[in-house]
Amino acid sequence: MHPDVQKILLSEEQIRERVKELGQQISQDYHAREVLVVGILKGAMIFLADLVRNLSVSTYFDFMAVSSYGSGTKSSGAVRILKDLDKSIEGKHVLIVEDIVDTGLTLKYLVENLKSRNPESLKICTLLDKPDRRTVDVQVDYTGFTIPNEFVVGYGLDFDERYRNLPYIAVLKPEVYQG
Ligand code: 5GP
Repeated sequence: MHPDVQKILLSEEQIRERVKELGQQISQDYHAREVLVVGILKGAMIFLADLVRNLSVSTYFDFMAVSSYGSGTKSSGAVRILKDLDKSIEGKHVLIVEDIVDTGLTLKYLVENLKSRNPESLKICTLLDKPDRRTVDVQVDYTGFTIPNEFVVGYGLDFDERYRNLPYIAVLKPEVYQG
């Protein structure tokens, strides 16, 4: 275990099993259709890489990067696009792949933004959900794990750009956040 980690919330094994299940469910739901997976950088990259290898439907992907609100402006809901999609999604079956839904503000913005581009369908898949923190209503179609209101890192999620490479989801020791 990494020395900065206080506890492992979700092990590699638990994540692998759940991602496999999600892949099967999504493959069933989309069956003969092609799915355009839209990964939200950077947090969702590892989840996306594992998820798409569990999809049996024809899949292609694109990426978006959005700025998360800075600390202290949590309720502003201001989201900025840092990197937009490469191609049009008009008429496509789009599946947004997110790392975590917290307040829901980022996802609400993304859904509204992508809906305005006229996809054939738009669904959301998130690895983690912290429902206690939700301030806006967003409908998530596929959720990996519902977790308590704790700040987590690993499997793509960072603290100050670190810990994304941990193969599990973990909570850090308090002294790490105090820097
Ligand atoms: P929301 O807009 O739903 O409040 O926030 C979503 C974004 O906040 C996520 O995509 C993620 O970047 C960040 N975030 C929220 N909770 C956590 C957490 O527990 N750990 C990490 N590393 N990022 C989080």
